[in-house]
Amino acid sequence: MIKIKKHLSLKPLVAAFKKIIGRSHQDDRRKNSVDYNVVDTVLSVLACMFYKAGSLLRYQRMLEKKIHRNNLKTQFGVDTIPSDNQIRSIIASTTPEQYAPIFKHCHNALQRAKYLKKFSFLNKYLVAIDATQYFESNTIHCSACLTQTMRNGTISYSHKALQPIICHPDQKQILPMMPEPIENTDGQTKQDCEINAAKRLMPKLRDQHSQLKFIWLADSLYATAPFIQEILDQGEDYIFRVKQGDHPSLFKHLKTANYNSHRTVSDKHTIAYRWYENVPLNNSTNISTTVIEAFAIKNHKDGSKSSTRIGVWITNLDVNHYTIVPITAAARARWKVENQCFNALKNYGYELGHNWGHVNGESFIFYIIIMLAFYFHQIFELTDQLYQLCRKICVTYKELWDDLLGLFKLMVFSSWEAMLLYCIKHNGCDPPQIIYE
Ligand SMILES: [Zn+2]
Repeated sequence: MIKIKKHLSLKPLVAAFKKIIGRSHQDDRRKNSVDYNVVDTVLSVLACMFYKAGSLLRYQRMLEKKIHRNNLKTQFGVDTIPSDNQIRSIIASTTPEQYAPIFKHCHNALQRAKYLKKFSFLNKYLVAIDATQYFESNTIHCSACLTQTMRNGTISYSHKALQPIICHPDQKQILPMMPEPIENTDGQTKQDCEINAAKRLMPKLRDQHSQLKFIWLADSLYATAPFIQEILDQGEDYIFRVKQGDHPSLFKHLKTANYNSHRTVSDKHTIAYRWYENVPLNNSTNISTTVIEAFAIKNHKDGSKSSTRIGVWITNLDVNHYTIVPITAAARARWKVENQCFNALKNYGYELGHNWGHVNGESFIFYIIIMLAFYFHQIFELTDQLYQLCRKICVTYKELWDDLLGLFKLMVFSSWEAMLLYCIKHNGCDPPQIIYE
C-alpha cells in the first residue's frame, strides 16, 4: 500500500499552474486582444521540460489523430496542442511575474503537508543564492543579452540568472524559489550584474515569503558592508564565504587573533573548527563578524597527518561548541545550488543551456519553466512514494526517464500515477495499491 499526498501529486500541481497562468493571462489578453491559447502552450512546454523531450508534442498529435486521446490532455490538461511555430512567440508574450506565484504555491503545498519543516534550520530557512549562465553565443543575440568584448574583438553574448534555493545540509532535495534574470534592459548603458540582480531579488523574496525567516548563504561577492547591513537591518542572518583576495584585512586580522576551537573525530577523518569573534569585516566599516575556519585532518598509515582547509566563512549567527558543527554544515550546503541544481539542469537531460528561444526575451521564460519542471521532480523525490518506488525499480535516473518518456509518447494513460504503475509492472514488479491522503 502506497500513500500519495493529494496536494503534491502531478494533477493538483499542474492544476495550480494552469489556474495561475490562466488568471494572470486574462488581464493581459484584454490589453493585447490576442487570440491564442497561451495556457495550452505554456502547459505543453512544461510537459516537454517535465519529460525532457522537445519531440513530445509530435507524438501527442499522432495519438490524438489515431485514438482521439493524448497524454498532454490527461496529465497536463492541454485542450489544444499548439503548433511548433507558434510556441516561441506565445511563450514570449508571457512575463516572468506570471510564474512567481507558482513557486509560492509549491512552497505552500509543501508547508501544508509538513515537508517544509524538514528544511528548518535553527527555526529558520537556509536560502542559497548563486548565478548561472544558461546561454552563450558569438552570433545569436537579443536586446536582453549581456555582452562582453573578448580580447580578439569578438563579442560574447550571454544570458544569466540569479537562482535562490531553500536547502538543508541533511536533505538531498532542494526547493527552488523564483529566479531573477541578469540581463540588460532597453536604454541601459551599463551591463547588468549579479550584485544588482541580488539587490532586486532579495526584497522580492521577502515579499513573496513574508513568513519565512531567512539565513542567506552566498559567495564572497556578497560579503560586503552594504549587503550585510541590509540583512541585519531586516533582522535576518547570513553565512557568507570569504576569500583572501576579497578580504585582505580580515585575513590579516586572523593571523594574530584569539580563537575558539572544536573537533569532530570519525574513522576516516577529523574535522577541526576554529572560530574568531568580533572580527572587523574591513577597514572602512564598523561591521564586525564571526569568522569560521574548518580543516579536514587526514590520518595516514605511517602515522603522519595532513590538513586541508575546507573553507572560511563569516556569520552573525551565535557560534559556540554546540552550534559550530551544524553552522559549518549549513555553510557548506551552499554548494547544493551548484551541485544539485545547476549541474542537474545542465547535465541530466533538462538542457538548460539549449537555445530554447532568443528573440523577444523568451529565453528567461524557458529558464523559469525548466526550473518549475525540476521543482515538480524535486517534490516527487521528496514526497511521492509511488515515484520513489518506480525510480528504485528502474535503477538509474536515466532509465526511469527513458521508460517514462517512451510510455508517454506511445500509449495514453488516464493519469501520471496510472503510467507509473504500468512502468512498475512493465519492469517485472507487482504494482502496489495506492491511496490518496
Ligand atoms: Zn539574448
